[in-house]
Amino acid sequence: MYSHLVAECLDCGHQASYSPKDSTCPNCGGGWREARYDYKSIGEKLLKELPARPFDIWRFHDLLPISEHQPIISMGEGGTPLLKATNLGSMLGIPYLYIKDERQNPTGSFKDRQASITVASLKEAGITETVLASTGNVAISYSAYTSRAGIKLWAFLTSLVPSEKMREVAIYGTQVIKVTASYDQTKKLAAEFAEQRQQGSYLDRGVRSIPALESMKTMAFEISEQLTAALGPPDSDTDLSQVPWRVPDWYIQAVSGGMGPVGVLKGFEELREMDLTDRIPAAASIQPAGCAPMVHAWKQNLDVAEPVLSPRTHIATLATGDPGRTYTLLRERMLRGGGGTFESVTDEEAFRAIHVLAKMEGLSMEPASAVAFAGLIKMVRSGQIKPDEVVVVNMTGHTMPVEKTILGEGWVQDIEIPEKPPEEKPEEGLLSALSRITPKRYSSVAIVDDHPHARRLIRRILQSQGEYTIFEASNGREAVELAQKEELDVMVLDLMMPEMDGFSVLDALKTDEKTASIAVIVVTAKTLTSAEKARLRGRIHSLMQKGEFLDDELVEEIDSLLQNESN
Ligand SMILES: *Cc1c(COP(=O)(O)O)cnc(C)c1O
Ligand SMILES: [Zn+2]
Repeated sequence: MYSHLVAECLDCGHQASYSPKDSTCPNCGGGWREARYDYKSIGEKLLKELPARPFDIWRFHDLLPISEHQPIISMGEGGTPLLKATNLGSMLGIPYLYIKDERQNPTGSFKDRQASITVASLKEAGITETVLASTGNVAISYSAYTSRAGIKLWAFLTSLVPSEKMREVAIYGTQVIKVTASYDQTKKLAAEFAEQRQQGSYLDRGVRSIPALESMKTMAFEISEQLTAALGPPDSDTDLSQVPWRVPDWYIQAVSGGMGPVGVLKGFEELREMDLTDRIPAAASIQPAGCAPMVHAWKQNLDVAEPVLSPRTHIATLATGDPGRTYTLLRERMLRGGGGTFESVTDEEAFRAIHVLAKMEGLSMEPASAVAFAGLIKMVRSGQIKPDEVVVVNMTGHTMPVEKTILGEGWVQDIEIPEKPPEEKPEEGLLSALSRITPKRYSSVAIVDDHPHARRLIRRILQSQGEYTIFEASNGREAVELAQKEELDVMVLDLMMPEMDGFSVLDALKTDEKTASIAVIVVTAKTLTSAEKARLRGRIHSLMQKGEFLDDELVEEIDSLLQNESN
């Protein structure tokens, strides 16, 4: 049934035939094994057959430890889009930024890959009852798939898991056990429980489970195929090897236990084995600062991570304090592959990234996913990610629903329609209610930039964060005319424009009494010489470097100018 793969022991190298019921090496008894396939022949077969196969996780069934090609419990998992993040990319100055949108899986996170393949495998093995510990999303995914497969699920959840997620687990008929303890302790409790129940009950073994690790690698396959469609095959002038598929320079993911990046790197290794690609990307694994055992170990060059006993983060999904051997395996894979790094970010940086992605790209994600994006921003700013590199960030999960603490106060404007007095026309009540949320005059801001995309980006930033009357000018001459004609409060000015550049616009504004008091914020991609800086000194309110500020920073700058003015 499973003759297309073997299970290789990571300790003694012994290869045994694979069966979903065996979890240890018959030679040494070790519990850490990985699947191996006949890569060369599968690679050739894939190139021929892929065009006719549907784009979902089962597209790569030749490389999965499942005997069915399209299990009936499938709900269309995998095959998620690779989105180009044009707005965030131009804000950060990295044009080749892509987002693997794993929110579009059936239960809203990339754990559906793991659940679909693992549960299909449990079903093939005739298992009827399963026990797992989870920080939330694994329990939700497994609940949905075990329900379709007719398998009973016991989910041990740490009490840190938001109650919205606990209810989502319960709706599928899962037995929910809420454990007031850390995630690591919850895991031990679940293991003991499974031990006691014995017959037919299967304990989810996380990264040591072959189906689970195999599920994660499918993201690498999809990313390569999608990047090739987006950017074309690798350039054979510079690449002598002439492989058909592309590999990104970076794969970035928020990690808890670390199964995602281990699996994804295994996927890239397999693509190379099949001669479909010739490189392994650098992996960046991002953790919240309050629970970052892998980051500490990496920075100290240790191959074993020291557990964090009491994680201090509000992001429950990422609260694995003890990554165990998974860290060691991930580090080994990185060192023999494309390298990479581990970084930490604060909860606040992650919450801020939620707002940035929702407002700039229309993508609403959960705090755990945002940790990866906060890491991306940090790595671009520190220069670890270069402007011409191809970057893929995993948007691992959807926010459902947005937690209170992230949105804060003042996110809704209430309108109450008063009971209408009999003599009044009904519309009047409506209009007077509306007039209360619409002031008479907004501050007016002019955006001056010769690139339409840059103007649109700044317009979008302003519109998403507040109310302004916005004017646009596409060159220096138009900007000066606009300033003469309208009562501008603030001008957001680009420096490098054809004909009349930003410096000359400033000269013109300052020599005319009517326009001399307009507050100017220069936004530029140019690195300024000291002579150029001297030309700006005292004449502008601030200088913002493109790619180095986030949306809310620009708005804060504008609002502070407007406040000064009204004082
Ligand atoms: C599980 C999870 C992670 C962490 O993934 P690992 O690879 O298991 O460390 C990140 N984000 C979300 C939304 C998750 O559910
Ligand atoms: Zn062994």
